[in-house]
Amino acid sequence: MAEDELCARCWNCAWEIDSRDRFCRQCGQGQGAWIPWYYRPLALVLLAFTVLGPFALPLVWRTPYLGRAAKWVASIGLVVVTGYVGWRLTVTLGELGDVLTGL
Ligand SMILES: [Zn+2]
Repeated sequence: MAEDELCARCWNCAWEIDSRDRFCRQCGQGQGAWIPWYYRPLALVLLAFTVLGPFALPLVWRTPYLGRAAKWVASIGLVVVTGYVGWRLTVTLGELGDVLTGL
């Protein structure tokens, strides 16, 4: 019976936990439905494209919802989008500077 209860592992620290535990007894991370909302894929996309931008990368790498390949794809996508936005911002600011100095 005791072995049945200790059949799960924490996604964060790999500590053995009771399969009915809502939080890890070692690191305190939520398990199953109690995993923090900001690790969910839709929340990651929302955060990356609204407030966090490239600073969402640590969340992408820590989320238990994505496999290794998906984390790489999401990271490369985020870096590419960030680079594109940075490049467009640089070009736009350059044009704005040309317009302002031309006046
Ligand atoms: Zn843990």
